[in-house]
Amino acid sequence: MERFDHFMARANAAYYAAKNPFADFVTGPELTQVFGELLGAWAKVVWQGMGAPENILLVEAGPGRGVLMADALRAWDAPSVHFIETSPRLRAEQASRVPRAIWHDSLDTLPPGPMILLGNEFLDALPVRQFVRRAAGWMERYVDNSVYIEQPTDYPLPDDPVDSVREVSEAALGFCRQLAAREGVGLFIDYGPMQSAAGESVQAIKDGAYADPLATPGEADLTAHVDFAAIARAVNAQGPVKQNAFLTSLGLYQRSDVLARRHPEKAIDLKLAVQRLTAPEAMGSLFKVLAICPPGTPTLPGFA
Ligand code: SAH
Repeated sequence: MERFDHFMARANAAYYAAKNPFADFVTGPELTQVFGELLGAWAKVVWQGMGAPENILLVEAGPGRGVLMADALRAWDAPSVHFIETSPRLRAEQASRVPRAIWHDSLDTLPPGPMILLGNEFLDALPVRQFVRRAAGWMERYVDNSVYIEQPTDYPLPDDPVDSVREVSEAALGFCRQLAAREGVGLFIDYGPMQSAAGESVQAIKDGAYADPLATPGEADLTAHVDFAAIARAVNAQGPVKQNAFLTSLGLYQRSDVLARRHPEKAIDLKLAVQRLTAPEAMGSLFKVLAICPPGTPTLPGFA
């Protein structure tokens, strides 16, 4: 028997080590180069706002195929590039696009110095604890032979109606707290609600289709909605704002128009990608953007 978050951590480590996640889902940087270019330009402006320190680290957590960083570096040729990535397979793929990156398993081994960290669809891959409200009180979910088992818990949770589910990502909160304890700014883009709410959000995607999260650990990608409001209560932050508001205020339409004029053969694909990133029923409003920054930081680009 294993606590659900431990099961999810193990399943995802196996999944990212062995499978090609990009056969199962599409992410912003995989849709269009404009996504990474805008984040690179954002990082450069933030760095300038910090007084352009020479020892700046540009860090990406969960870089996938390395596409976002390769695009970002065209907008800002940052002096020092670091990846936080645990999958050996994806590290090799990242090295083909960003050979000069330095790899880490966690924030622990990053060199000292101010940093700007980017994380797109990173926090949603981190494990969550799951709790179910029963008549007698809150229970925590464990996994045993592919079925849920419930055990009583005294974990502090709101007084929700019977059968409500709550999810808590100690891994995501811990990562953000550790980031906030360092000098710098972190930018996270992921799907999740504006307000913390009860509800079960864990889902499994296997071979491009929804699957049972418990049935085939390591073969399905397990994700949970990111509780941005909980993160914003734990550390100083700006946002969350919706992805469409963020990207359009950074110049998504202008940049994609320039590209479309330069490469008319790409114009239709670009238009579709921009639509997917911004349409409320696609990624535009389900996806949120949160910046973790020191208290007193002036409003960061995209957060007005
Ligand atoms: N940012 C990319 C990929 C998102 S998929 C994109 O937008 O396309 C999630 C990424 O996080 C993968 O690179 C995966 O290997 C990595 N990852 C998942 N759990 C991790 C963990 N605990 N520590 C470090 N990296 C992790």
